[in-house]
Amino acid sequence: MGHLLNADLHCHSVVSDGTLTPEVLAQRAKANGVELWSLTDHDEVGGQARAIAAAQAAGLPYLTGAEISVTFAGITVHIVGLGFDHTDPALVEGLRRTRGGREERAREMSDDLAKVGIPNVFKGALKYVGNPELISRSHFARYLVEIGVCSETGEVFRKYLTEGKPGFVPHRWATLRDAVGWITAAGGIAVIAHPGRYSFTPNEEYALFTEFKALGGQGVEVVTGAHNASDVVKYTGFCQEFDLLASRGSDFHSPDESHTDLGQLPDLPGSVTPVWTRLEARIQ
Ligand code: AMP
Ligand code: MN
Ligand code: MN
Ligand code: MN
Repeated sequence: MGHLLNADLHCHSVVSDGTLTPEVLAQRAKANGVELWSLTDHDEVGGQARAIAAAQAAGLPYLTGAEISVTFAGITVHIVGLGFDHTDPALVEGLRRTRGGREERAREMSDDLAKVGIPNVFKGALKYVGNPELISRSHFARYLVEIGVCSETGEVFRKYLTEGKPGFVPHRWATLRDAVGWITAAGGIAVIAHPGRYSFTPNEEYALFTEFKALGGQGVEVVTGAHNASDVVKYTGFCQEFDLLASRGSDFHSPDESHTDLGQLPDLPGSVTPVWTRLEARIQ
């Protein structure tokens, strides 16, 4: 259970915006040499029972997971929870409320795209949605590729659906306090997901980490599909500065879209304390 463990503690299934089922993900993780796995669907624990069963069938050690959408300083931040009781009523209800409003937001995104001459995107995106409560920008991106507006989903996020671009609708997610609170009260550890991806100023980022720590947050993703080598160095330093545990996860969504496959990541640096060293009792 040291820092060389091939742990992949961040990925998505059809229960949120991934394209594979929890069962297929478990088999793919096992085949790729993953030694500890977590399915972390956005704002949703509806896939956890399936992931637990599939991991067990594959002989794959498993931690429960979720990736909670949070609004901090006007920016969307993702908080991964690991090793919690996925039946905890306050967590389940908090996630249900966080999902609420996604359909209305999606209708507004579609209306905004219609204004630039791309009609009926809501309806088109729906056929990619596996969970009616979890329509995501990823589903919009897949439909925009299908109809030839863009050639791949990365291009969609450069031209549409993001701040200042057609199809972007500002949205208020959970608070940092609530997300960290739900996870820790349910026996889990809260982790700041892919910190290298946010557009914070250095002062805002410092405030995020300071507040996260004060609220009981304990970890940060150091190695993720979204981090380059300098991000890894930077957030290794943050682990020391803020006394945080380090996590590792691919953020795999789809064989067709994701650059990083399950388990295909650099090792954690030897100088950090892996989050899994504090979660051994929660592994199933
Ligand atoms: P939502 O939760 O509906 O705002 O959708 C966010 C999801 O969109 C993320 O979890 C990613 O899966 C996807 N996404 C966001 N930005 C990008 C990007 N630049 N490239 C590819 N996918 C992205
Ligand atoms: Mn996603
Ligand atoms: Mn994320
Ligand atoms: Mn993710």
